[in-house]
Amino acid sequence: MAGDDARGGSLRLNLRSRKVCVIGAGMAGLAAAHELRREGHAVTVMEQRGDVGGQWLYDPRTDAGDPLGAAPPPVKVHSSMYASVRLISPRELMGFSDFQFVPTRHCGDPRRFPVHGEVYRYLKDFCDTFGLLDVVRLNTRVVRVAMAPPRPPGKEKEGGDEPRWVVQSVKIRESEDGIADDEEIAPEQEEVFDAVVVANGHYSQPRLPSINGMEQWQRRQLHSHSYRVPDPFRGEVVVLVGCGDSGLDIALDLCGVAKEVHLTANSSVEAATSTTPAMAKMLANHAGHLHLHPRIDHLCHDGHVAFTDGSVVIADTVIYCTGYDYSFPFLDTGGLVTVDDNRVGPLFEHVFPPAMAPSLSFVGVPKKVLVPWFFQAQARWIAKVLSGRSSLPEVEEMVRAVEEYHRGRENAGVHKKYSHDIGGVDPSEAYEFVAKYTDLPPMEDWKRELIRCVLRNINEDRETFLDLDDDSENVRQGVERWLAIC
Ligand SMILES: Cc1cc2nc3c(=O)[nH]c(=O)nc-3n(C[C@H](O)[C@H](O)[C@H](O)COP(=O)(O)OP(=O)(O)OC[C@H]3O[C@@H](n4cnc5c(N)ncnc54)[C@H](O)[C@@H]3O)c2cc1C
Repeated sequence: MAGDDARGGSLRLNLRSRKVCVIGAGMAGLAAAHELRREGHAVTVMEQRGDVGGQWLYDPRTDAGDPLGAAPPPVKVHSSMYASVRLISPRELMGFSDFQFVPTRHCGDPRRFPVHGEVYRYLKDFCDTFGLLDVVRLNTRVVRVAMAPPRPPGKEKEGGDEPRWVVQSVKIRESEDGIADDEEIAPEQEEVFDAVVVANGHYSQPRLPSINGMEQWQRRQLHSHSYRVPDPFRGEVVVLVGCGDSGLDIALDLCGVAKEVHLTANSSVEAATSTTPAMAKMLANHAGHLHLHPRIDHLCHDGHVAFTDGSVVIADTVIYCTGYDYSFPFLDTGGLVTVDDNRVGPLFEHVFPPAMAPSLSFVGVPKKVLVPWFFQAQARWIAKVLSGRSSLPEVEEMVRAVEEYHRGRENAGVHKKYSHDIGGVDPSEAYEFVAKYTDLPPMEDWKRELIRCVLRNINEDRETFLDLDDDSENVRQGVERWLAIC
């Protein structure tokens, strides 16, 4: 295993225990808290909301004062979950290695692809089982993280001149409407930690396209971050920008309610996927209500939406389903960690900024990976590096590795904004990471087959894949073993 010192039990006594702050108590932050504690670190998780769960803690409020999410970060409402969301990743693949996502006696939705509330309950059970709430400070928003000044000469303790981090936080009460600012209920607090793990998620800060006429548009426009239920769009003509998961989900949500739904491809990638069998079936199933267009050419203040093929519709609402930006508004690294067109960096293996490793790290940056399994792997690696059980390469070597990594992907035609998409149809990078840096068992063969099968089914029929029962014998037996063991 790379950089791993094969130490026996007695030598574990020499492991360093660090005082670590984790920012965020979603899947990534909870994975971090669990793994750091297992390794013997002293953990504090700071979570701005009144409960754990992150995105899966459904919030009926929206950023009503700024439905586009165009104001400077952060948005006021964190969760972008809409009411109809069902998991699109199978629960068999969604568990922590030591706490599988099995349907329990008290669960409300035992299906393979359950409703979002089931994931929230699972995360709560995970916290209860491992006593994680003992280390989570709720209603605590981190407002600034910066390196602490060096210790004065002669005052070094264990850790010598290793950097430490000052974390400033405020106690808050969430506003009731998502328009007013959250109320600060206790003055700012400043604490020093040996290490900070950033796990603040990246499905909250809207990524907006640049379309001619957006500023002049007088009718309703919002980002999917602020979409919850279809009812407000009853009888309307709605244009959805983007054909990713949210665009397709919301289109189906609106089909029975809105007068017309117009989907538009927003990039060449989406234009290509727009021609999938799934899209063809969706359009056929909802003929007359659902329409597909190429990208928008311009919007007019009077409600005209003109597409690049010359077609025009008059719309009541435009919803931008155009994804999210990485955003770390609290993080002050003096420019050593930046976000450039959704590339966070430099990050060695998507986790450690070389110049500040290992005392600063990130869990949850990669996209399209199986979670929380992959987050757990990242967190396990961080925990081991902080304790001294694993080591990192020299800074220059990490910097070089990051540069080579991005160059390789660019040469392979991967756009910068997809720098952290490492799963999906080819999860090999994620599998290799887990094998290289952790002692987690490799993903079993039947699970790998199940992923391939789900991805194929999504491409075949978006409206039925969640309830298909087409497991191969290999998968069926794997599921049976999984249920029996759990
Ligand atoms: C509509 C929708 C559907 C999805 N469906 C799926 C799916 O089917 N399968 C799947 O695998 N993934 C899905 N995802 C992605 C899912 O959100 C991620 O897989 C996962 O939940 C991300 O976890 P996280 O902990 O990184 O981030 P989050 O869940 O966003 O958690 C981050 C936490 O950090 C907290 N935080 C942020 N800033 C601060 C601060 N300054 N101070 C203190 N706390 C802070 C937030 O309040 C939040 O609790 C979906 C996402 C969306 C939006």
